[in-house]
Formats: sequence, C-alpha cells, structure tokens
Amino acid sequence: MITTHQPEHVVIVGAGIIGLGHAVAALDAGYRVTVLEQDHAAVLASVRNFGHVCASVQAGELGELAQESLPIWSGLAERAGVEARRSGTLAVARTEAEEAVLQELIAERAPEGARLLTGAEVSDQLRLDRSALRPVHLAGALLPSDVTADPRTAVARIAAWVAAHERGAVQFGTTVFGADHGAAHVTVATNQGDIVADRIVIAAGHLVGRLFPELAEQHAVRECVLQMTRVRAPHNMDFGPAVLTGTSMLRYGAFAGPAADALRAEMQKNRRDLIEIDANAMFTQQADGTLLVGDSHESHTSAPPFMREAWTELLLAEAAHVLGAPRLEVIERWQGIYATSSKQDILRATPAPGIDVVSLTTGVGMTVGLGLGARTVASWG
Ligand SMILES: Cc1cc2nc3c(=O)[nH]c(=O)nc-3n(C[C@H](O)[C@H](O)[C@H](O)COP(=O)(O)OP(=O)(O)OC[C@H]3O[C@@H](n4cnc5c(N)ncnc54)[C@H](O)[C@@H]3O)c2cc1C
Repeated sequence: MITTHQPEHVVIVGAGIIGLGHAVAALDAGYRVTVLEQDHAAVLASVRNFGHVCASVQAGELGELAQESLPIWSGLAERAGVEARRSGTLAVARTEAEEAVLQELIAERAPEGARLLTGAEVSDQLRLDRSALRPVHLAGALLPSDVTADPRTAVARIAAWVAAHERGAVQFGTTVFGADHGAAHVTVATNQGDIVADRIVIAAGHLVGRLFPELAEQHAVRECVLQMTRVRAPHNMDFGPAVLTGTSMLRYGAFAGPAADALRAEMQKNRRDLIEIDANAMFTQQADGTLLVGDSHESHTSAPPFMREAWTELLLAEAAHVLGAPRLEVIERWQGIYATSSKQDILRATPAPGIDVVSLTTGVGMTVGLGLGARTVASWG
C-alpha cells in the first residue's frame, strides 16, 4: 500500500462513528490521518443513540459489516478505553405472534449462540420479581454476542485515541467547505485554511447534502428524527442485556420472514399507536444503571425541532410494561437525527479521484460503522 517513506495523508471529515471508524482503520493500515470536525466535540447521532451494537439482528451486507465491527469494538475497548461490554441482546415476546417470530429466528437463522427463553427465564434476565408480577412475557430470545457501548463517551474516547496516535490528529472547530482534486493531491477548504491531503473521506452523516447536494439528492437522503429518554431503572437490573420488543422484530433484517409478516399484520390492527410513530420500542442499560429508552422514527427533508410528548409517553409505557413497572422516572429527553433513504442502506460515492463520500442511510451506525471504515480503507489497496 505505502511505497514512499512519508505515509499518505488521509483527511476525514466528521468525528462521528463513521468518520472515526475510517480513522482507526487508516491508522492501523499505516496512513497519516487528520480528522476534521466542525463542532468542538461530536454531538450529533453518534452520541444520541442507544449504543446498541446489534450485530445479531442484521442481515445481508449490514450483517457482514456488523460482524466485522464486533472485534474492532473489543479492540477499542482495550486500546482506547471505550466502554463497550458484551451485554447480549434480549428480544422479548409478549404476544403469540411475537413468540412465533423468535421461534422462526432460532429455528431458521439462529445468530451465533442464540437460544430461546421461557417467559420465566425472561423475567429472570430482567431481574423481575416473579411473585409480585402478573407475567407479561411469553418467551424471549437471548442473543449473546451483541455489545452495548456508552454512546456518550465512545466517540470522544476514540477521537482522543486518534489524536494521541503518532500519525493521528483531530481538529475540532474545523468546518469543511469543500474538496478539490488536483493533479496529485486533494485540497480541503476549511474555516482554518486549506489542508492538502492524498485522499479525503467525507463522513458527514445526515449533513452530507451540505457538501454534496447532488449526491444527497441522487441517493434520496432525508433526515430521520427520533425521540429518546434516559430513565432510572425501576429496580436493580444488574447491568443487563439490551432489550428489543415486537416493534424491533419488524425493523431488523434477521427477523424478516413469514412470522414477521404476520406480526406486522397483527400490529397494524392492534397496535396502530406504535406503527404510526414507526416505533422501535427498546432500551439499553448504561454503567450507572440508567436506561436509554426509545424510539420513534419520522422522516423529513429538514427535521422539525419539536418533540411530541405523546410519542415519548407511549415509548415509556412500553418499556415500563416490559419491566413490570407502573411508570418510569425520566432523567433526560432528547432528539436525534440520522440519515435515511428509501434507495439504499449505505451511500458510497467517489465524486472525484481520492474523494470518498460515505454516509450510512439507515440507523445502525454504531453496529456497522467500524467495519464500514475498515472496508473503505481496504478498498484503497
Ligand atoms: C436516537 C438514535 C438512536 C440510535 N441508536 C442506534 C443504536 O443503538 N445502534 C446503532 O447501531 N445505531 C444507532 N443509531 C444510528 C447511529 O447513531 C448513526 O447511524 C451513526 O451515529 C451515524 O454516524 P455518523 O458518523 O455518520 O454521523 P454523526 O454522528 O452525525 O457524525 C457526523 C459528524 O460530521 C460532522 N460534520 C458534518 N459536516 C461537516 C463539515 N462540513 N465539516 C466538519 N464536520 C462536519 C458533524 O458535526 C458530525 O459530528 C441511532 C441514531 C439515533 C439518532
């Protein structure tokens, strides 16, 4: 790959998980790397999510990228002190149609190490007091290889690791206005002056259209806006698995099949409230015991800032039901935005030699972003 004494210089735009996935892979491959981030810390999608590296429930290319990402997360836990633990995922079934989806998953496409649980075993996983509760869980699937990362600190720690690397640098407060490919180099225009590089990766997330409006239009990029809360755990949960529910079974590729089609039809009849907000009712647990609970999905050309309390209440009620709690105490609320598209899951383009544009256009960047970076870098030969 590198033929001169001076390593090739790669500039990466965006210090979210996709940009940093590329930065880590490029450093590991021997390049010199400069990450440029417009904000003074990454504060967009990569810190607003559940931190759920839900590799077991992905399919197709996303499934491959997710599997490739898992060892990179473990490596970063060691090298960069990223808080990422092998929490596993627990998919819970509260209706027979949901139970059928889990049975089909395990019978036909079982993720590594996955097993079906009885309702009582689900209660045990969630540390529910069986004697005090009317049981709501019919069954569950435990998917042990998934990871939960702390989304609030993960990208900051990876960025710090890149900045501390002998060939790495991270410049916050640096807005990129454009990139021009010359005979031998790419010149990157920023508010801090021009930077010359051998290649550039644009990992601007849902803001890709600000730099490449035509590409964003061609790839039908829109903004998907989501509502999230952080709540106090209603009882001691022992730092448990990430929890998915029936709406999650309609969303992720590994669940897809006749049973999921039947579940969709049933939910369209019985749970129009959840279907209308395109819910993925789920939660993850953080090291301080709190739970990140979400989320709704709504697609816009420009996301409005107004959060709908009724939607948040509905998502909280779902989590409370799973946890056998009358209500959950909210500590924080926020909105997140990621890039979405009806055309593809990943926007990958090379508008000029040496310029790679990479935006994930579906909401699984924490799951696939590190593997995606490794693949782009490997493609440079
Ligand atoms: C509420 C929510 C929950 C989610 N939950 C999960 C989950 O549990 N698991 C999962 O796998 N995925 C999840 N996702 C999806 C995941 O968070 C995203 O796919 C991922 O963070 C996208 O990463 P990114 O680096 O492309 O974008 P971002 O994190 O948005 O980073 C892009 C960066 O580029 C910078 N930038 C943009 N333009 C410029 C410019 N011109 N100059 C300099 N800098 C620029 C921005 O400031 C930003 O920091 C969730 C998303 C949301 C919003």
